[in-house]
Amino acid sequence: MSKKNLDDYEEKRDLEKSPEPKGDDNKSHDKPIFVIQKHDAQNLHYDFRLEIDGVLKSWAIPKGPSTDPSDKRLAIPTEDHPLDYATFEGVIPEDEYGGGEVIVWDKGTYENESVKDDEDLSIEDAYEEGHIKVWLKGKKLTGGYALIQTDSGDNPRWLLVKEDDSEADARRKPVKTEPKSVKSGKTIDDLKEEDDD
Ligand code: MN
Repeated sequence: MSKKNLDDYEEKRDLEKSPEPKGDDNKSHDKPIFVIQKHDAQNLHYDFRLEIDGVLKSWAIPKGPSTDPSDKRLAIPTEDHPLDYATFEGVIPEDEYGGGEVIVWDKGTYENESVKDDEDLSIEDAYEEGHIKVWLKGKKLTGGYALIQTDSGDNPRWLLVKEDDSEADARRKPVKTEPKSVKSGKTIDDLKEEDDD
């Protein structure tokens, strides 16, 4: 897969000083994956990443995902991340890019359900069109989600919206009620305490 997609990733961080993956184990999965990492950087946010074309296409979602179809969550696109970033959990040093604690808040596979004019659209084309529809199979999040680009150019903006399907639940509020990592069971605060020891 095209390595050049990861230039921004490598330029932004010093991978000798940050514990983040170097991206050298970048093998595509039989079933494409998604991951949501809770990241307590300068501003707390949730990094939503979808495996597309050999990388993790990425969006920072300040409020995190919702299971309520009436919520529209701002999703700010960020640089492509290597596939092996999907298992990364740990503490990025304070003075490095994105410094702060990261946990794997949710992870799983997805099915592409993107369409345009009643025709199935590849996930790559849907990304380019700025209108993605996926069915997530995570531990916390399941069901249909749409990612819709609302602004392009210098200030690109997308929205993440839960589809109104069998998995929708306006009362669940998983960002509030399910704070633990699906990888380790740890919370952001657990990582903070470990880091202080
Ligand atoms: Mn982040």
